[in-house]
Amino acid sequence: KDVLVEVKNLKKHFQVGGNQILKAVDDVTFDIYRGETLGLVGESGCGKSTLGRTLIRLYEATGGSVKFAGESVHGKKSKAELKKLSRSIQMIFQDPYSSLNPRMSVEDLVAEGMDAHGLSENRTERHKKVIDLLELVGLNKDHAKRFPHEFSGGQRQRIGIARALAVDPEFIIADEPISALDVSIQAQVVNLLRKLQRELGLTYLFIAHDLSMVKHISDRIGVMYLGSMVELADSDAVFEEPLHPYTRALISAIPVPDPHLERSRERVILEGDLPSPIDPPSGCRFRTRCPFAAEECAKSIPEWREARPNHWVACHLYGDGEMAANRLKQEAG
Ligand code: SF4
Ligand code: MG
Repeated sequence: KDVLVEVKNLKKHFQVGGNQILKAVDDVTFDIYRGETLGLVGESGCGKSTLGRTLIRLYEATGGSVKFAGESVHGKKSKAELKKLSRSIQMIFQDPYSSLNPRMSVEDLVAEGMDAHGLSENRTERHKKVIDLLELVGLNKDHAKRFPHEFSGGQRQRIGIARALAVDPEFIIADEPISALDVSIQAQVVNLLRKLQRELGLTYLFIAHDLSMVKHISDRIGVMYLGSMVELADSDAVFEEPLHPYTRALISAIPVPDPHLERSRERVILEGDLPSPIDPPSGCRFRTRCPFAAEECAKSIPEWREARPNHWVACHLYGDGEMAANRLKQEAG
């Protein structure tokens, strides 16, 4: 597989209120393959947006590394290198309205990145490129002279997507791009993103707080809990064979369309609130809410490991210790 983004032991800690440290992203390791959509889910406050922003250096990393197309994203970089990076990686946001300057026309909004990267010296070509982009995202040339307030939420998200595409990026981080939209519009935006991926060969990191939102667009899904990645696998495997108790709880929480359809695994019900990332539980951070928690879980942090081919999980039930041995015994008998 062709790795486009390589994330190793990435950490982003913030100093908050005096000497307290908020470990928003703590030791996260994974790859993103060229041309895929990696869905990233977790409750709000689990660090997924911070992870997205640290990937493109909107935040400096506290530790670990990110490589994009083999080049290090963090560390010392020349202006030219930074510029190239900021062109190759674009971001789409949850609320396109707040990221669109209300006094700029759609044409200028879409061309803003092109202007910044010196890709729009010729006015006729600039105009033509904007019209092409608008048509690509399902808008048209009549929209170019209008202003953001004249558009619906779904149309504004299309404008946001056209803006991102204007500089010909390879990788797009979409941070909850459909969370603020009506359900009927969500599917349209997801379909548009899929079409653009096929036509332009884009790679996506698609962030959402809900598994059902990433289901139809993701090739693989990563699940985050309190600053850590707890599971990462092919989409089908996450839904059909979730390993981590937290992922199983998320799946259990999805309403089942047919109540007679028994699930292959027992349901895991999530209790309690997300603990503060400022003073997280020792050992496994999920242990205060996990129905399987045992002594081992408080003592040591479960290792991030490939428990099955291409299926990563951080849980002692899939480690080398007693808990894993007991689980295997139980499954056999
Ligand atoms: Fe639950 Fe322990 Fe696994 Fe954490 S390591 S998810 S507490 S069983
Ligand atoms: Mg967020």
